[in-house]
Amino acid sequence: MHAANPEHVRTTLRHAHALRVPVVPRGAGTGLSRGANAGTGTVVLDLSGMNRILDLDPRDQVAVVEPGVVTAELDRAAGEFGLRYAPDPASAAISTVGGNIATNAGGLRCAKYGVTRDAVLGLDVVLADGTPIRTGRRTVKGVTGYDLTALLTGSEGTLGVITAATLRLRPVPETTATVAAYFDTFAEGAEAVSALRTRI
Ligand SMILES: Cc1cc2nc3c(=O)[nH]c(=O)nc-3n(C[C@H](O)[C@H](O)[C@H](O)COP(=O)(O)OP(=O)(O)OC[C@H]3O[C@@H](n4cnc5c(N)ncnc54)[C@H](O)[C@@H]3O)c2cc1C
Repeated sequence: MHAANPEHVRTTLRHAHALRVPVVPRGAGTGLSRGANAGTGTVVLDLSGMNRILDLDPRDQVAVVEPGVVTAELDRAAGEFGLRYAPDPASAAISTVGGNIATNAGGLRCAKYGVTRDAVLGLDVVLADGTPIRTGRRTVKGVTGYDLTALLTGSEGTLGVITAATLRLRPVPETTATVAAYFDTFAEGAEAVSALRTRI
């Protein structure tokens, strides 16, 4: 099934639930553990067509996107405002934000900014029986209640289908530099990395 909007997702899950048919959500299908693959008698729900950036607010440094947005596209769109979407799995040019959230993907930038979970403020999710829920927040501070957003992030589509995500953006650093350093031992290299991390 190809979902074009949240109603398609709700309807698919409602009927599949009533008929006891398993549903596997799918973004771009790049996940290395093959979580988006399905066997006989299973419905694959393709979210790649839900690929709109719904809101990009430079003042709040927040974006609201559909799950099929390609990760690098969001980063590019944020770049127009001097911002970035920090999570950068090496698959960013081909994988989707929904798939990244479902796998809690991380890339090189996670050493500084954290993994995908650290960028997800809130989620719109449809549960297995077709019930829509909204978790999390859009604000900087969010301290009350159970952190269902964190629970859903990394759940590989087992808890529900993500239909929208509210994401934190970060300012692009004013300058960057690449340094090559050589150490006699691994321990000395690790110590240098630790020391650098206290300054960035
Ligand atoms: C070349 C390459 C490089 C990679 N580099 C990295 C890396 O540096 N770091 C890293 O962490 N990972 C990396 N990965 C794996 C990475 O986690 C996935 O590529 C990516 O996160 C999956 O996104 P996708 O859109 O392809 O999702 P899919 O492969 O389609 O799905 C992945 C999982 O998410 C679920 N899912 C997808 N969309 C939704 C949704 N809307 N709601 C609920 N569940 C959903 C699926 O059911 C499945 O379990 C790499 C993969 C490749 C092929």
